[in-house]
Amino acid sequence: MKKILVTRKLLRSNEDKLKSLYDVKLNLNDELYSQDKLIELSKGCDGILSALTDKLDDQTISKLPESIKILSNFAVGFGNIDLEAAKKRNIAVTNTPEVLTDATAEIGILLILGACRRAAEGIEGAKASNWKWSADYLIGKQLTGTRLGILGMGRIGQKIAKIARSLGMIIHYHNRSKLNDEKENGAIYHEKLDSLLSVSDVLSVCCPASKETINLINKEALEKLPQGAVVTNVARGDIVDDEALIDALDRRKVYAVGLDVYKGEPNLNPGYTKHKSAFILPHLGSATKETRTAMANLAIDNMTEFFETGGCKNKVN
Ligand code: NAP
Repeated sequence: MKKILVTRKLLRSNEDKLKSLYDVKLNLNDELYSQDKLIELSKGCDGILSALTDKLDDQTISKLPESIKILSNFAVGFGNIDLEAAKKRNIAVTNTPEVLTDATAEIGILLILGACRRAAEGIEGAKASNWKWSADYLIGKQLTGTRLGILGMGRIGQKIAKIARSLGMIIHYHNRSKLNDEKENGAIYHEKLDSLLSVSDVLSVCCPASKETINLINKEALEKLPQGAVVTNVARGDIVDDEALIDALDRRKVYAVGLDVYKGEPNLNPGYTKHKSAFILPHLGSATKETRTAMANLAIDNMTEFFETGGCKNKVN
């Protein structure tokens, strides 16, 4: 029986499935393992079921025991793993696409609504019972008729586009490659990011974190947005330059932000926590029971496929 290290606590049904298939080392207290501890615990294991909180960089991967053949990441994103380093060691890396698209797109829409309609201020006012209805109390931005710019029109971006379209938003997007008509579904393609930014009354960041996208939304990019645009990020914190975004909020260049992800999670930049126009969530994208169950099942199935065939349809390196 193959031996597996599972770095984070999973839902009970997923842990039961793992126990029925593998000799598993579970993390019952959901401790955040240091890199050294992860290396130590992986001794004698054939694979690791990792999570986005595990920083599997070059150094860590080079110290993993020879017996490790697969890193099955419990996420669609894999910015936490150095794919090249894994490849050099002949370790397969897999992810969990598709199953989290709907739940994450729901949070993407919540970020747009929360930021545009001043939900953070509204919740504070309602809880403090210090509000008074008036014709101009907490006036926000209406979505109907507003242009939504999607940076990264993949699975999640397309689902956000579908819901936003039903809310009356006009969809623009930028990818490195143009989608076919069916996937575009009437959305307007921008070959250049700057062109997308110039029409984005609301920006939704949905692309992966990669060497190309780190700090892509920086000071220069933010200046290209229309005055008073709204910036939302449901993808990864690394894509946004926090200082530049907080400065743009302070200057009212950016009207509001809606964020689910941050650099250095869980320690987000205090500039966001202080800002009344920041609608912020603690990385809730895939956090529904259905989705987390499906993600862990897929991460387990990816391992099984790999051990049985030597390959896996969700291999990313
Ligand atoms: P996907 O289907 O692979 O879509 C990614 C899109 O980004 C593609 O359309 C791709 O198009 C585009 N893209 C990639 N690199 C780009 C670049 N350098 N410039 C412009 N566009 C680029 O991925 P997905 O399933 O939608 O997931 C997207 C990301 O969401 C994940 O990588 C993950 O980090 C994040 N996520 C967050 C949560 C959460 O909890 N908040 C949950 C799930 C996922 P081209 O290849 O044509 O450029």
